[in-house]
Amino acid sequence: MAERRCLNCGMVANALRFDLDQVPPRLRCTKCDEALYQQQDGRLLTRDIAHGRETVARAREKLDELLLDGWRGYYRGVRIVVGGGLIREEVLGQLRYYRERGVVRSYREDSPNRGAIVVTLRD
Ligand SMILES: [Zn+2]
Repeated sequence: MAERRCLNCGMVANALRFDLDQVPPRLRCTKCDEALYQQQDGRLLTRDIAHGRETVARAREKLDELLLDGWRGYYRGVRIVVGGGLIREEVLGQLRYYRERGVVRSYREDSPNRGAIVVTLRD
């Protein structure tokens, strides 16, 4: 995504390049001054990071990719399908750390499906 469109006024800015240790990216609309990377369209980006015989290490990489895709898009948050084993515990631990660092706002188990976690990036 090369550009970022303001959801408030439609003004277009150059998208920023950033990594997870740089979120939320600071970029304001030059027309209406809204924080462009805090705007969201209400959607959740859902992805299964535990299918097949995924290793814990690979699942962690997929978690980071998913969170970055969420921040690079306009999503309110992400829904992570983690299953019920080690990957779930690893992801919950990592999300606790990310919440302290401001990478995510909050997270909770999906209901009634405990094999998924709903994460809020922006609210
Ligand atoms: Zn604007």
